Amino acid sequence: MKYDFSDLPIGGDKKASHLRFLHCAKLGFLRHAISTEEGGHDDNFLTLIRTHQQLGQYCLDSGLILSLNAHLWGTVFPLINYGSDEQRRRWLPRLLSGEIIAGHAITEPLAGSDVKALTTTATLTEKGFVLKGCKRFITNAPIAKILIVYAQLEHKLTAFLVKRNDEKVLFTDDYSVAACASATMGEVILDNCLIPLDRQIGKIGAGALMIQSALELERAFIFAGISGIMEWQLKTVIKYSRERQIKAQPLGQNQAVSHKIAEMKLRLDTINLWLRECANLKIQKKRISLVSAETKLYASEAFLQSSLDAVQIMGAIGLLESQKMNRLIHDAVASRLFSGASEIQKNIISALLGTGEGYKGQQKQ
Ligand SMILES: Cc1cc2nc3c(=O)[nH]c(=O)nc-3n(C[C@H](O)[C@H](O)[C@H](O)COP(=O)(O)OP(=O)(O)OC[C@H]3O[C@@H](n4cnc5c(N)ncnc54)[C@H](O)[C@@H]3O)c2cc1C
Repeated sequence: MKYDFSDLPIGGDKKASHLRFLHCAKLGFLRHAISTEEGGHDDNFLTLIRTHQQLGQYCLDSGLILSLNAHLWGTVFPLINYGSDEQRRRWLPRLLSGEIIAGHAITEPLAGSDVKALTTTATLTEKGFVLKGCKRFITNAPIAKILIVYAQLEHKLTAFLVKRNDEKVLFTDDYSVAACASATMGEVILDNCLIPLDRQIGKIGAGALMIQSALELERAFIFAGISGIMEWQLKTVIKYSRERQIKAQPLGQNQAVSHKIAEMKLRLDTINLWLRECANLKIQKKRISLVSAETKLYASEAFLQSSLDAVQIMGAIGLLESQKMNRLIHDAVASRLFSGASEIQKNIISALLGTGEGYKGQQKQ
Protein backbone atom coordinates (compact mmCIF):
# COMPACT_ATOMS: atom_id res chain seq x y z
CA MET A 1 0.00 0.00 0.00
CA LYS A 2 1.43 3.35 -1.00
CA TYR A 3 0.25 6.61 0.49
CA ASP A 4 0.34 9.98 -1.14
CA PHE A 5 1.37 12.24 1.74
CA SER A 6 1.81 15.29 -0.47
CA ASP A 7 -1.19 17.05 1.14
CA LEU A 8 0.14 16.47 4.66
CA PRO A 9 -0.15 19.85 6.44
CA ILE A 10 3.30 21.42 6.78
CA GLY A 11 5.00 22.78 9.89
CA GLY A 12 6.62 21.14 12.88
CA ASP A 13 4.71 22.80 15.70
CA LYS A 14 2.10 21.14 17.86
CA LYS A 15 -0.89 22.59 16.07
CA ALA A 16 0.44 21.38 12.72
CA SER A 17 1.20 18.00 14.24
CA HIS A 18 -2.41 17.66 15.39
CA LEU A 19 -3.59 18.47 11.86
CA ARG A 20 -1.07 15.99 10.45
CA PHE A 21 -2.40 13.30 12.81
CA LEU A 22 -5.93 13.94 11.56
CA HIS A 23 -4.74 13.94 7.96
CA CYS A 24 -3.02 10.54 8.39
CA ALA A 25 -6.17 9.18 10.05
CA LYS A 26 -8.26 10.42 7.12
CA LEU A 27 -5.99 8.60 4.69
CA GLY A 28 -6.67 5.35 6.58
CA PHE A 29 -3.25 5.21 8.25
CA LEU A 30 -4.64 3.99 11.61
CA ARG A 31 -6.27 0.88 10.14
CA HIS A 32 -3.27 -1.33 9.41
CA ALA A 33 -2.85 -4.82 10.91
CA ILE A 34 -6.51 -4.66 11.97
CA SER A 35 -9.23 -6.96 10.66
CA THR A 36 -12.13 -5.72 8.56
CA GLU A 37 -14.60 -6.70 11.31
CA GLU A 38 -12.83 -4.24 13.58
CA GLY A 39 -12.80 -1.58 10.85
CA GLY A 40 -9.25 -2.19 9.61
CA HIS A 41 -7.63 -2.86 6.24
CA ASP A 42 -7.25 -6.59 7.01
CA ASP A 43 -3.56 -6.42 6.09
CA ASN A 44 -0.67 -7.35 8.36
CA PHE A 45 2.21 -5.98 10.41
CA LEU A 46 4.57 -6.02 7.41
CA THR A 47 2.28 -3.56 5.64
CA LEU A 48 2.07 -1.52 8.82
CA ILE A 49 5.87 -1.27 8.91
CA ARG A 50 6.09 -0.20 5.27
CA THR A 51 3.44 2.50 5.66
CA HIS A 52 5.06 3.87 8.82
CA GLN A 53 8.42 3.94 7.01
CA GLN A 54 6.84 5.89 4.15
CA LEU A 55 5.41 8.39 6.60
CA GLY A 56 8.74 8.79 8.43
CA GLN A 57 10.59 9.40 5.18
CA TYR A 58 8.04 11.95 4.10
CA CYS A 59 7.35 13.90 7.31
CA LEU A 60 10.73 13.55 9.13
CA ASP A 61 8.71 14.24 12.28
CA SER A 62 9.48 11.98 15.27
CA GLY A 63 6.81 13.82 17.27
CA LEU A 64 4.06 12.86 14.84
CA ILE A 65 5.31 9.28 14.83
CA LEU A 66 5.31 9.17 18.65
CA SER A 67 1.79 10.58 18.73
CA LEU A 68 0.40 8.05 16.20
CA ASN A 69 2.10 5.17 17.99
CA ALA A 70 0.80 6.23 21.42
CA HIS A 71 -2.71 6.24 19.94
CA LEU A 72 -2.34 2.83 18.27
CA TRP A 73 -0.50 0.81 20.91
CA GLY A 74 -1.80 2.75 23.90
CA THR A 75 -5.52 2.50 23.17
CA VAL A 76 -6.52 0.99 19.82
CA PHE A 77 -4.79 -2.37 20.24
CA PRO A 78 -5.55 -2.77 23.98
CA LEU A 79 -9.23 -2.24 23.11
CA ILE A 80 -9.03 -4.78 20.28
CA ASN A 81 -7.22 -7.30 22.49
CA TYR A 82 -9.00 -6.76 25.81
CA GLY A 83 -12.15 -4.67 25.23
CA SER A 84 -15.64 -6.16 25.43
CA ASP A 85 -17.76 -6.38 22.24
CA GLU A 86 -19.69 -3.33 23.38
CA GLN A 87 -16.52 -1.33 24.17
CA ARG A 88 -14.98 -2.16 20.78
CA ARG A 89 -18.22 -1.27 18.96
CA ARG A 90 -18.47 1.97 20.85
CA TRP A 91 -14.91 3.28 20.64
CA LEU A 92 -13.04 1.69 17.73
CA PRO A 93 -14.81 3.36 14.78
CA ARG A 94 -14.04 6.82 16.17
CA LEU A 95 -10.47 5.87 17.14
CA LEU A 96 -9.71 4.47 13.68
CA SER A 97 -11.20 7.46 11.87
CA GLY A 98 -9.19 9.86 14.03
CA GLU A 99 -12.35 11.51 15.40
CA ILE A 100 -11.00 10.57 18.81
CA ILE A 101 -7.28 10.80 19.64
CA ALA A 102 -6.04 8.63 22.50
CA GLY A 103 -3.00 7.24 24.31
CA HIS A 104 -2.06 5.52 27.55
CA ALA A 105 -1.28 6.87 30.99
CA ILE A 106 1.05 4.64 32.98
CA THR A 107 3.95 6.78 34.27
CA GLU A 108 3.62 8.58 37.61
CA PRO A 109 5.89 10.98 39.50
CA LEU A 110 7.05 8.17 41.79
CA ALA A 111 6.79 5.30 39.31
CA GLY A 112 8.55 5.36 35.95
CA SER A 113 10.31 2.16 35.04
CA ASP A 114 8.82 0.19 37.90
CA VAL A 115 5.15 -0.59 37.24
CA LYS A 116 4.83 -2.28 40.61
CA ALA A 117 5.23 1.12 42.22
CA LEU A 118 2.14 2.65 40.56
CA THR A 119 -0.02 4.27 43.25
CA THR A 120 -3.03 5.64 41.35
CA THR A 121 -6.08 3.98 42.85
CA ALA A 122 -9.54 3.03 41.65
CA THR A 123 -12.31 2.44 44.17
CA LEU A 124 -15.56 0.74 43.37
CA THR A 125 -18.57 2.74 44.60
CA GLU A 126 -22.30 2.57 43.97
CA LYS A 127 -22.01 5.28 41.32
CA GLY A 128 -19.00 3.81 39.50
CA PHE A 129 -15.20 3.82 39.87
CA VAL A 130 -13.48 6.69 41.62
CA LEU A 131 -9.92 7.26 40.37
CA LYS A 132 -7.31 9.16 42.37
CA GLY A 133 -3.72 9.88 41.38
CA CYS A 134 -1.44 11.64 38.93
CA LYS A 135 0.17 10.53 35.66
CA ARG A 136 2.91 12.42 33.87
CA PHE A 137 4.79 12.48 30.54
CA ILE A 138 1.64 11.30 28.79
CA THR A 139 1.91 11.61 25.01
CA ASN A 140 -1.23 13.12 23.41
CA ALA A 141 -2.70 14.20 26.78
CA PRO A 142 -3.36 17.77 25.51
CA ILE A 143 -5.23 16.57 22.39
CA ALA A 144 -6.65 13.24 23.56
CA LYS A 145 -10.38 12.79 24.10
CA ILE A 146 -9.78 9.49 25.92
CA LEU A 147 -6.85 7.74 27.59
CA ILE A 148 -6.39 4.28 29.00
CA VAL A 149 -5.34 4.87 32.61
CA TYR A 150 -3.82 2.16 34.79
CA ALA A 151 -4.76 2.14 38.47
CA GLN A 152 -4.80 -0.21 41.47
CA LEU A 153 -8.25 -1.63 42.09
CA GLU A 154 -8.22 -3.67 45.30
CA HIS A 155 -4.38 -3.64 44.98
CA LYS A 156 -4.65 -5.21 41.53
CA LEU A 157 -3.47 -3.23 38.53
CA THR A 158 -6.43 -2.61 36.24
CA ALA A 159 -7.12 -0.57 33.09
CA PHE A 160 -9.79 2.11 32.78
CA LEU A 161 -10.91 4.28 29.93
CA VAL A 162 -11.04 7.90 31.06
CA LYS A 163 -12.60 10.71 29.03
CA ARG A 164 -11.28 14.26 28.97
CA ASN A 165 -14.71 15.54 30.01
CA ASP A 166 -15.22 13.11 32.88
CA GLU A 167 -15.86 14.65 36.29
CA LYS A 168 -12.77 15.80 38.21
CA VAL A 169 -10.08 14.87 35.72
CA LEU A 170 -7.60 17.17 34.00
CA PHE A 171 -5.58 16.31 30.90
CA THR A 172 -3.01 19.12 31.09
CA ASP A 173 -0.88 20.83 28.45
CA ASP A 174 1.67 22.56 30.62
CA TYR A 175 5.04 21.10 29.72
CA SER A 176 7.01 19.34 27.02
CA VAL A 177 10.29 17.47 26.93
CA ALA A 178 13.09 18.80 24.69
CA ALA A 179 12.51 16.07 22.11
CA CYS A 180 9.93 14.87 19.59
CA ALA A 181 8.93 18.52 19.65
CA SER A 182 5.70 18.30 17.71
CA ALA A 183 4.21 15.65 19.97
CA THR A 184 1.95 16.99 22.68
CA MET A 185 2.49 15.84 26.23
CA GLY A 186 0.90 16.50 29.59
CA GLU A 187 -0.24 15.21 32.95
CA VAL A 188 -3.42 13.44 33.89
CA ILE A 189 -4.68 14.61 37.26
CA LEU A 190 -7.38 12.38 38.71
CA ASP A 191 -8.93 14.11 41.70
CA ASN A 192 -11.55 11.57 42.74
CA CYS A 193 -12.58 11.23 39.12
CA LEU A 194 -15.86 9.36 38.76
CA ILE A 195 -16.31 7.06 35.77
CA PRO A 196 -19.09 4.56 34.99
CA LEU A 197 -18.58 0.84 35.54
CA ASP A 198 -18.52 0.07 31.81
CA ARG A 199 -15.15 1.84 31.47
CA GLN A 200 -13.09 -0.94 33.02
CA ILE A 201 -11.07 -2.55 30.21
CA GLY A 202 -10.14 -6.18 30.70
CA LYS A 203 -10.43 -8.04 33.97
CA ILE A 204 -9.53 -6.78 37.43
CA GLY A 205 -5.80 -7.37 37.79
CA ALA A 206 -5.18 -7.67 34.02
CA GLY A 207 -3.43 -4.27 34.00
CA ALA A 208 0.15 -5.57 34.24
CA LEU A 209 -0.40 -7.95 31.35
CA MET A 210 -2.10 -5.22 29.32
CA ILE A 211 0.79 -2.82 29.91
CA GLN A 212 3.24 -5.54 28.88
CA SER A 213 1.28 -6.34 25.73
CA ALA A 214 0.87 -2.63 24.77
CA LEU A 215 4.55 -1.88 25.35
CA GLU A 216 5.72 -4.97 23.48
CA LEU A 217 3.82 -3.77 20.41
CA GLU A 218 5.06 -0.21 20.85
CA ARG A 219 8.67 -1.37 21.20
CA ALA A 220 8.35 -3.66 18.21
CA PHE A 221 6.93 -1.10 15.80
CA ILE A 222 7.60 2.48 16.89
CA PHE A 223 10.90 2.42 15.03
CA ALA A 224 9.18 1.69 11.71
CA GLY A 225 8.42 5.39 11.29
CA ILE A 226 11.77 6.40 12.75
CA SER A 227 13.62 4.08 10.34
CA GLY A 228 12.02 6.15 7.55
CA ILE A 229 13.59 9.25 9.12
CA MET A 230 16.93 7.43 9.40
CA GLU A 231 16.74 6.62 5.69
CA TRP A 232 16.55 10.36 5.00
CA GLN A 233 19.37 10.97 7.49
CA LEU A 234 21.60 8.52 5.62
CA LYS A 235 20.76 9.91 2.17
CA THR A 236 21.42 13.44 3.40
CA VAL A 237 24.90 12.67 4.76
CA ILE A 238 25.82 10.72 1.63
CA LYS A 239 24.84 13.71 -0.51
CA TYR A 240 26.70 16.07 1.81
CA SER A 241 29.82 13.89 1.86
CA ARG A 242 29.89 14.00 -1.95
CA GLU A 243 29.29 17.73 -2.28
CA ARG A 244 31.37 19.14 0.57
CA GLN A 245 34.94 19.72 -0.57
CA ILE A 246 37.86 19.44 1.85
CA LYS A 247 41.33 19.97 0.44
CA ALA A 248 39.83 19.94 -3.06
CA GLN A 249 38.27 16.54 -2.69
CA PRO A 250 34.85 15.30 -1.52
CA LEU A 251 34.56 14.92 2.25
CA GLY A 252 33.45 11.31 1.81
CA GLN A 253 36.85 10.40 0.34
CA ASN A 254 38.12 10.37 3.93
CA GLN A 255 37.89 6.87 5.25
CA ALA A 256 36.97 8.11 8.74
CA VAL A 257 33.86 9.70 7.19
CA SER A 258 32.94 6.91 4.78
CA HIS A 259 33.23 4.33 7.58
CA LYS A 260 30.77 6.34 9.67
CA ILE A 261 28.37 6.27 6.71
CA ALA A 262 28.86 2.52 6.29
CA GLU A 263 28.00 2.04 9.97
CA MET A 264 24.89 4.22 9.61
CA LYS A 265 23.76 2.02 6.72
CA LEU A 266 24.43 -1.15 8.71
CA ARG A 267 22.44 0.17 11.68
CA LEU A 268 19.50 1.13 9.49
CA ASP A 269 19.40 -2.23 7.72
CA THR A 270 19.69 -4.05 11.04
CA ILE A 271 16.73 -2.09 12.47
CA ASN A 272 14.72 -3.02 9.38
CA LEU A 273 15.59 -6.68 9.88
CA TRP A 274 14.48 -6.52 13.52
CA LEU A 275 11.22 -4.80 12.51
CA ARG A 276 10.47 -7.51 9.97
CA GLU A 277 11.28 -10.20 12.53
CA CYS A 278 8.72 -8.66 14.92
CA ALA A 279 6.13 -8.42 12.13
CA ASN A 280 6.68 -12.02 11.02
CA LEU A 281 6.33 -13.30 14.58
CA LYS A 282 3.10 -11.34 15.02
CA ILE A 283 1.79 -12.73 11.72
CA GLN A 284 2.58 -16.24 13.00
CA LYS A 285 0.84 -15.30 16.29
CA LYS A 286 4.03 -15.98 18.23
CA ARG A 287 5.31 -14.12 21.30
CA ILE A 288 7.41 -11.00 20.80
CA SER A 289 8.56 -10.35 24.40
CA LEU A 290 12.21 -10.99 23.61
CA VAL A 291 12.42 -9.60 20.07
CA SER A 292 10.48 -6.45 20.93
CA ALA A 293 12.92 -5.66 23.78
CA GLU A 294 15.87 -6.43 21.48
CA THR A 295 14.39 -4.29 18.69
CA LYS A 296 13.74 -1.35 21.01
CA LEU A 297 17.15 -1.56 22.65
CA TYR A 298 19.06 -1.91 19.40
CA ALA A 299 17.02 0.63 17.44
CA SER A 300 17.12 3.40 20.03
CA GLU A 301 20.86 3.07 20.63
CA ALA A 302 21.44 2.88 16.85
CA PHE A 303 19.25 5.95 16.25
CA LEU A 304 21.29 7.93 18.77
CA GLN A 305 24.66 6.84 17.37
CA SER A 306 23.60 7.54 13.77
CA SER A 307 22.21 10.94 14.76
CA LEU A 308 25.53 11.84 16.43
CA ASP A 309 27.46 10.57 13.40
CA ALA A 310 25.28 12.54 10.98
CA VAL A 311 25.91 15.79 12.85
CA GLN A 312 29.64 15.04 13.11
CA ILE A 313 29.87 14.44 9.36
CA MET A 314 28.04 17.69 8.59
CA GLY A 315 30.16 19.74 10.97
CA ALA A 316 28.73 22.90 12.54
CA ILE A 317 26.04 23.11 9.85
CA GLY A 318 24.52 19.97 11.33
CA LEU A 319 24.16 21.77 14.66
CA LEU A 320 22.29 24.80 13.33
CA GLU A 321 19.12 25.39 15.36
CA SER A 322 17.10 25.20 12.16
CA GLN A 323 18.66 21.86 11.19
CA LYS A 324 16.57 18.73 11.55
CA MET A 325 19.79 16.74 12.07
CA ASN A 326 20.45 18.53 15.32
CA ARG A 327 16.91 17.90 16.62
CA LEU A 328 17.13 14.20 15.82
CA ILE A 329 19.79 13.84 18.53
CA HIS A 330 17.25 14.94 21.13
CA ASP A 331 14.58 12.67 19.63
CA ALA A 332 17.02 9.76 19.79
CA VAL A 333 17.82 10.45 23.45
CA ALA A 334 14.07 10.40 24.19
CA SER A 335 13.73 7.15 22.26
CA ARG A 336 16.07 5.51 24.77
CA LEU A 337 13.48 6.37 27.46
CA PHE A 338 9.98 6.12 25.98
CA SER A 339 8.31 2.69 25.91
CA GLY A 340 10.89 1.64 28.50
CA ALA A 341 14.47 2.80 28.98
CA SER A 342 17.39 0.94 27.41
CA GLU A 343 18.49 -0.38 30.82
CA ILE A 344 15.05 -1.88 31.34
CA GLN A 345 15.15 -3.58 27.92
CA LYS A 346 18.44 -5.17 29.04
CA ASN A 347 16.74 -6.30 32.27
CA ILE A 348 13.91 -7.84 30.23
CA ILE A 349 16.28 -9.61 27.85
CA SER A 350 18.43 -11.00 30.66
CA ALA A 351 15.33 -12.02 32.65
CA LEU A 352 14.02 -13.93 29.62
CA LEU A 353 17.39 -15.68 29.54
CA GLY A 354 16.86 -16.64 33.18
CA THR A 355 19.28 -14.22 34.83
CA GLY A 356 19.66 -10.69 36.18
CA GLU A 357 17.55 -8.32 38.26
CA GLY A 358 14.40 -8.49 36.14
CA TYR A 359 14.27 -12.28 36.47
CA LYS A 360 12.44 -11.99 39.80
CA GLY A 361 10.71 -8.62 39.57
CA GLN A 362 8.47 -7.19 36.95
CA GLN A 363 9.22 -3.94 35.20
CA LYS A 364 7.24 -1.92 32.80
CA GLN A 365 9.48 -0.46 30.54
C1 LIG B 1 9.03 11.41 24.75
C2 LIG B 1 8.42 10.60 25.84
C3 LIG B 1 7.11 10.13 25.72
C4 LIG B 1 6.52 9.40 26.76
N1 LIG B 1 5.20 9.00 26.63
C5 LIG B 1 4.61 8.31 27.64
C6 LIG B 1 3.22 7.94 27.56
O1 LIG B 1 2.54 8.19 26.55
N2 LIG B 1 2.68 7.26 28.61
C7 LIG B 1 3.38 6.97 29.74
O2 LIG B 1 2.82 6.36 30.63
N3 LIG B 1 4.68 7.32 29.85
C8 LIG B 1 5.32 7.99 28.85
N4 LIG B 1 6.63 8.38 28.95
C9 LIG B 1 7.35 8.11 30.18
C10 LIG B 1 8.34 6.96 30.02
O3 LIG B 1 7.64 5.76 29.93
C11 LIG B 1 9.30 7.00 31.22
O4 LIG B 1 10.12 8.14 31.04
C12 LIG B 1 10.14 5.76 31.33
O5 LIG B 1 9.36 4.67 31.71
C13 LIG B 1 11.25 5.92 32.38
O6 LIG B 1 10.70 6.35 33.59
P1 LIG B 1 11.29 7.63 34.33
O7 LIG B 1 11.48 8.71 33.32
O8 LIG B 1 10.46 7.90 35.51
O9 LIG B 1 12.75 7.16 34.77
P2 LIG B 1 13.13 6.25 36.04
O10 LIG B 1 12.29 5.04 36.10
O11 LIG B 1 13.20 7.11 37.25
O12 LIG B 1 14.61 5.80 35.64
C14 LIG B 1 15.69 6.73 35.62
C15 LIG B 1 16.90 6.00 35.04
O13 LIG B 1 17.21 4.88 35.86
C16 LIG B 1 17.23 3.69 35.07
N5 LIG B 1 16.65 2.58 35.84
C17 LIG B 1 15.46 2.58 36.49
N6 LIG B 1 15.24 1.37 37.03
C18 LIG B 1 16.32 0.61 36.70
C19 LIG B 1 16.68 -0.74 36.95
N7 LIG B 1 15.88 -1.53 37.67
N8 LIG B 1 17.85 -1.21 36.43
C20 LIG B 1 18.66 -0.40 35.70
N9 LIG B 1 18.37 0.90 35.43
C21 LIG B 1 17.21 1.39 35.92
C22 LIG B 1 16.36 3.99 33.87
O14 LIG B 1 16.72 3.17 32.78
C23 LIG B 1 16.67 5.44 33.62
O15 LIG B 1 17.85 5.55 32.86
C24 LIG B 1 7.25 9.10 27.93
C25 LIG B 1 8.59 9.54 28.03
C26 LIG B 1 9.17 10.27 27.01
C27 LIG B 1 10.60 10.73 27.15
